[in-house]
Amino acid sequence: MRLKVIIRVRPMSQREIHSGSQKVVAVEGDNNIAITNIKVPEQHAGDSRERIRRFAFDYCFSENATQDQIFETIESVIGGSLKNRNNSCVLAYGQTSSGKTHTMMGSPQNPGLTPRLCRRIFKYFEGGALKNETGNMKLTVSYLEIYNEKVGDLLSPEDNTKQGHNKHLKVREHPRKGPYVEGLSEHIVTNDDQLLERLESGTSKRKIGSTATNPKSSRSHSVISVCCDGVKLHLVDLAGNERAGSRGYGPNRFREGANINKSLVALGNVISTLADQSKTSSQSSKNKFVPYRDSVLTWLLKDTLQGSSRTVMIATISPSSTCYSESVNTLRFGQRAK
Ligand code: ADP
Ligand code: MG
Repeated sequence: MRLKVIIRVRPMSQREIHSGSQKVVAVEGDNNIAITNIKVPEQHAGDSRERIRRFAFDYCFSENATQDQIFETIESVIGGSLKNRNNSCVLAYGQTSSGKTHTMMGSPQNPGLTPRLCRRIFKYFEGGALKNETGNMKLTVSYLEIYNEKVGDLLSPEDNTKQGHNKHLKVREHPRKGPYVEGLSEHIVTNDDQLLERLESGTSKRKIGSTATNPKSSRSHSVISVCCDGVKLHLVDLAGNERAGSRGYGPNRFREGANINKSLVALGNVISTLADQSKTSSQSSKNKFVPYRDSVLTWLLKDTLQGSSRTVMIATISPSSTCYSESVNTLRFGQRAK
């Protein structure tokens, strides 16, 4: 696996500004980011490293970065990877409200990565061997949600309940083709408009299951998979990584918290095992067991995390002092992948 980690800091929100919190995150150049713990008083911080922590990543984007800049950077990695017939994956990781969905989906006025990549995706597959004999390209798309370690189909044709979906599907593993979701609907599209229409329909279904007091979508992972002739692209908007209980509603919140953690913990373990493997030349480390099956998420993503696949993780953070601990956690998570 070849993994790049990108940090994106969002602007201070109105609420953060009005609550009097401070901006504690600074992007320093293209690769570095500093975060200040204002609870350690400046004059008492004998060692300034306790107060200011610095991290290095493949790219760091400040609050001034545009959707277009983010897209250009990701496209330079993912577009080329798909052209070379490598499975590819983009993951958005971070606390709720840090900008994952803004980055992945954006808004109609200011579209994010998913619609921009989907507008180009036929091009990525065009030049190479992926074109079929008739010259007509067909892609298939599927869109699922993982909630409490259960998989729901957001594009299921027969399942139009108020919750968006009510059937839970199982992950299985084909000996040659790898992991797949049994019974997940796959939709053939032959142009980018059709593809985007499907995605909108899945996204609106996802919103149905979510309300203001019970924002299920922040506690579920969504996975869009586009496939052309066996080459896969996964676009993943992960559940908020905040600790269980810090933002939970209703009687099920503890179970939800535990299960969200399970997938994110498993993701961290898989990614750091793979990162260690790619650094080492020792055979025993190279053969180290990768715990893909520890969660539904990592199992499903197995194909795009291993081998010659390319993955980009975009870790999003708030610049506010009120989010200090969660932001440090996010930066540490990104660091584990290195
Ligand atoms: P998440 O999906 O991580 O919970 P959102 O993407 O929904 O967070 O972002 C929370 C709010 O902050 C939204 O209103 C979103 O429009 C805004 N926001 C997030 N990132 C940015 C950004 N880079 N620039 C401007 N607004 C942003
Ligand atoms: Mg979101």
